Amino acid sequence: MDMKELLYEGKAKELYETDDPDTLWVKYKNQATAGNGAKKETIEGKGKLNNQITSLLFEKLKEKGIPSHFIKQLSETEQLIQKVEMFPLEVVVRNVAAGSFSRRLGVEEGKELSFPVLEFYLKKDELNDPIINEDHVKELALAAEGEVVKIKNQALEINQVLLKLFKEMNIRLVDFKLEFGKTSDGSIVLADEISPDTCRLWDLDTNDRLDKDVFRKDLGDIIPLYQEVLTRLNQL
Ligand code: ADP
Ligand code: UDP
Repeated sequence: MDMKELLYEGKAKELYETDDPDTLWVKYKNQATAGNGAKKETIEGKGKLNNQITSLLFEKLKEKGIPSHFIKQLSETEQLIQKVEMFPLEVVVRNVAAGSFSRRLGVEEGKELSFPVLEFYLKKDELNDPIINEDHVKELALAAEGEVVKIKNQALEINQVLLKLFKEMNIRLVDFKLEFGKTSDGSIVLADEISPDTCRLWDLDTNDRLDKDVFRKDLGDIIPLYQEVLTRLNQL
């Protein structure tokens, strides 16, 4: 497989075309951003940690029968993925109150939620990715009604698998963001990444943060934390 033209450069990854029209070559970058790019830094080593963590998690999900775009890890910072038509949605699943949920609704950070709360956000940087509901998804034709049902079911199933996995790593899976896409045959698969950039991960014993909140809030170096997540994942 050969790498061809750069198709898209985002905040955290570069997507390249390959000689197969259905396959993309992804490079994970060392750039870290927060607040929709308002805070931006290069952090040596972040790309390879997120690539390895995402690759391992997508492999674990596959073992549990959850389809994704992931084909294989190519190098420390690169993956091959199936090209899909992305839904312009960020699907957030929350098990514990934190972040914008706590801020918007006045719920104490760390409160266990009585059921997994699912939220949709419109993926549109110019609008700062606003929270939307299912009527908005329908009105803006972001996904068909049947697709929304499938996306929600998959997101909740992924949550169950990840909750168990992170518990085995002595980590509390507080919340996370997923993105989904549609393959050329119309099936819906998990895409993008699952990493400490896109999840809130708290150590079960100490409540120490092992995720991007440490960068967002200027609390220290994220590299040893992301490395700790990878080490625990490798020990499973
Ligand atoms: P952003 O676009 O938010 O800055 P990234 O730097 O992570 O984020 O860029 C990756 C981009 O690739 C995202 O826009 C994401 O929606 C898109 N993407 C992820 N997986 C796939 C896929 N399998 N096929 C096509 N696009 C994808
Ligand atoms: N998240 C993400 N990308 C985004 C927004 C959120 O990966 O563009 C993740 C974030 O890491 C957290 C979850 O989604 O695990 C919920 O984020 P929240 O809405 O609380 O975001 P905040 O505004 O606090 O960053």
